[in-house]
Amino acid sequence: MKAIDVHAHFSTEKGSAFRTPAEIEAAERVYKTAIKWKTDDQMGNDFLDASVLAILDGPLCKNINDLVENNNYISEMVSDHQNVFAGAWAHIPVHTGKEGLIELERCLRQLNMTGLVVNQIENHTGCNDPRFYPFYELCDELHAPVLINVGHSGTGAGLPGGGGLHLKHCSPLNVDDVAADFPNLTIIAGHPAWPWQDEMIAVLLHKPNVFNELHGWAPRYFSAELKKEIGGRLQDKIMFGSGYPLFSFERLFTEWKSLGLRDDVLEKVYLSNAQRILNIFKK
Ligand SMILES: [Zn+2]
Repeated sequence: MKAIDVHAHFSTEKGSAFRTPAEIEAAERVYKTAIKWKTDDQMGNDFLDASVLAILDGPLCKNINDLVENNNYISEMVSDHQNVFAGAWAHIPVHTGKEGLIELERCLRQLNMTGLVVNQIENHTGCNDPRFYPFYELCDELHAPVLINVGHSGTGAGLPGGGGLHLKHCSPLNVDDVAADFPNLTIIAGHPAWPWQDEMIAVLLHKPNVFNELHGWAPRYFSAELKKEIGGRLQDKIMFGSGYPLFSFERLFTEWKSLGLRDDVLEKVYLSNAQRILNIFKK
């Protein structure tokens, strides 16, 4: 196995984060790619070919029935392709409240999903919103990690008014609040945190329970400070995430290699940090 990918999306129509023609068109423009739907097995083969073991992230479904159906699909995808998928993140929007909490417990206890994912911008609020706290309490109790998206988001980019989404909700300082309130919770910031990259580095250095996976960006665009810290003080905190299918693994591996990190540091980023932080056994 070359790498554990902590954050991969779906290339099947059913699991895609892009739900409407406008969202598909915007994603194709922002990421300069053409979106083509694959079958479940074709998607699994992409990971097999790249020698990658991934944790999947599905779409944010707004209503509870779609959410339940989608989580069933996601967990089936993982159990049908265990050679390439190690788990999945449960996307539970905060407005679902008690029903969402019951669904999160089902995802973690019955569907063996990995943990909760909080997409701040798509929830129209920061992860430090007290309405999220019962979800964190459940994750804390079940020793499940929480993945929180930070930094500028491609979602809504270029749409009128950015699709009504607010970038202020993507600040890593929101993550700092949650980490202070839940010191035993494993928190993974997802994505590079630009334009708050220095704030993210500060949070990672200050909070032992906060980690960072860097999906959704081509590594050559990482800030100079981030590149330096990956090879230095943050080498035990950074994990590989792809954001598949918008980037090819070939491109990501080539660009990670070109950062000039020591081999032992790259091994931590690709494999051993995720194995330790997310308790994934060596395969
Ligand atoms: Zn995602």
